[in-house]
Amino acid sequence: MTKYGKKILNIINASCEHMTAEQIFLALKKTEPKVVLATVYNNLKTLCDTQMIRKISIEGSVDRYDRMEKHDHLICRKCGRVTDIAFEDLTKKLEEQLGERILSYDLRISYLCPACKNQ
Ligand SMILES: [Zn+2]
Ligand SMILES: [Zn+2]
Repeated sequence: MTKYGKKILNIINASCEHMTAEQIFLALKKTEPKVVLATVYNNLKTLCDTQMIRKISIEGSVDRYDRMEKHDHLICRKCGRVTDIAFEDLTKKLEEQLGERILSYDLRISYLCPACKNQ
């Protein structure tokens, strides 16, 4: 892994904010002023390809990046805010219904976040 790759991984693992490439770039720039955005994109792609991080793609919104640690997501239909939530692990139940082993699953709950609900 490159020097930048390691730093980008640290930034993502330390954040619960589901950062965009641009936000990661700005965070990295604080310690690596010479880094360019293209380098961040290249490293993000490599980190995704090697399953060190995961990408969250939401229709109509820019891609966000997240740590691999098992958790689920609540996504506000109105403001697009992504919130972490840990539901019980459904792997066993899903495997029973499918009759096959599954490698992973991606659970996203669409809802209205408290701020949008109170508007
Ligand atoms: Zn909202
Ligand atoms: Zn998350």
